Amino acid sequence: MRVLDDLSLAGARVLVRVDLNVPMRDGRVSDATRIDRAAPTLSELSDKGAKVIVLSHFGRPKGKVVGEMSLAPLAEPLGAALDRPVAFADMDGAAAAVAAMSGGDVLLLENVRFDPGEEANAPGFARRLAALGDLYVNDAFSCAHRAHASTEALAHLLPNAAGRSLQAELAALEAALAKPKRPVAALVGGAKVSSKLAVLGHLLDKVDQLIIGGGMANTFLFAKGVNVGASLCEADLAGTAREIMARAGTVGCEIVLPVDVVLAAEFKAGADSATVPVDKVPDGMMILDVGPASVRDLTDRLRSCRTLLWNGPLGAFEIAPFDGGTVKVAQAAAALTRAGTLTSVAGGGDTVAALRHAGAADDFTYVSTAGGAFLEWLEGKPLPGIKALEDQ
Ligand code: ADP
Ligand code: MG
Repeated sequence: MRVLDDLSLAGARVLVRVDLNVPMRDGRVSDATRIDRAAPTLSELSDKGAKVIVLSHFGRPKGKVVGEMSLAPLAEPLGAALDRPVAFADMDGAAAAVAAMSGGDVLLLENVRFDPGEEANAPGFARRLAALGDLYVNDAFSCAHRAHASTEALAHLLPNAAGRSLQAELAALEAALAKPKRPVAALVGGAKVSSKLAVLGHLLDKVDQLIIGGGMANTFLFAKGVNVGASLCEADLAGTAREIMARAGTVGCEIVLPVDVVLAAEFKAGADSATVPVDKVPDGMMILDVGPASVRDLTDRLRSCRTLLWNGPLGAFEIAPFDGGTVKVAQAAAALTRAGTLTSVAGGGDTVAALRHAGAADDFTYVSTAGGAFLEWLEGKPLPGIKALEDQ
């Protein structure tokens, strides 16, 4: 895969796919993380004299022009992040706007999903985009699991490269799973086993320890004959859980489950909670977090690991005190990362929120905000947007 250093940029028209699908509230950007991730590549291209033509989707307009999903309001905040003016054009005005550009200029194009050809990965729409540029750069890892015209077909039509943030994301993911420093642990939590079967299956073969927490641990405990009371539990997946545990045994991966748990009769703020050993859950009670002995166990394990890959919270972290296990283990992983003994890579919508809540996100080696693309990567699926760059 080529990177920006491999392209001859000065004066070239460069189409750059980024992810500007930012959360907005009352017409303002409420979380600028994605703009900040796109900025280094866009600034570098502009500084090197390229004519920078920015492509992104926004929302789900389903191939039609939908006024509220225009990218026009993003030109100003993008300009502020790049510290230079950003012009805007829709597809009808794009050719003229590009023709008027000088080296270093930045032009934001309208939401690519306004054209039905985008999500259809249509060659015709990809050709219309390609006609606007000389080179293609993809800097949107979070969109790489979709084969869309601006993420896939376009890459086949122009000389291409990965942008800096895509490059960093791939390097971090590679450090966590493809060639990790061992021992490597994966911590998989969250609500349901059913939503993460493919993730568990893929990780089993790659990691030394598979730590299972959150609601999904309940299904594994149940499968081992432990009473889980009224906890979230997918009883119909008990057989699958037993198969996973059996396969782990044959490939030499240790499955780690909670040794104690935090219980409550209901899931609400300020509910009475109790901590019990995992084999002492009374009927009618719900497991909502891992307990302090589990936190100690996991922290000890992380101390002797060199790499941690984390997806899914250890408990129902949205409501105190059930955030305790996730917060303490996240802080332990952050401290070990700061101390230089652990490479820590995390991703997943709720995971990112939980790590931020714990004040640990900034200390992790890498936190992926890519959502669906991160999960598909965790499942070991090839990502079409990455493959298209590699195919060149
Ligand atoms: P991510 O978005 O990071 O991939 P998930 O969506 O898989 O993570 O899981 C997050 C959800 O799992 C949270 O809403 C959390 O409340 C829930 N959860 C975690 N542990 C439990 C539990 N013991 N019982 C019920 N829900 C849980
Ligand atoms: Mg989630």
